[in-house]
Amino acid sequence: MTMVHDHNRKDCLAMFAKLSDYIDNELDDLTCKDIENHARACIPCKACMETFRQTICFCRSLTPNEIPVPTAFSNHLKSLIQKLSGQKRDL
Ligand SMILES: [Zn+2]
Repeated sequence: MTMVHDHNRKDCLAMFAKLSDYIDNELDDLTCKDIENHARACIPCKACMETFRQTICFCRSLTPNEIPVPTAFSNHLKSLIQKLSGQKRDL
């Protein structure tokens, strides 16, 4: 196992470019290993990766198919928007 000591921002940017594909499991094994190796040697990237993963999980848990937006809430939003746009018209 080789440690990555020459961590630099270019590597980080390259990692971030692939991060969403990585989270979606759309990368080949070799690329996944690259990202994992980088994150292991780079604490800021590791932290970002975890945050990103959690955010994605959170967003997926809120997909409309699984949890429909309650009608009351949706109506409340609509009336709020109407109210706001009405106020704008008055100004
Ligand atoms: Zn990094």
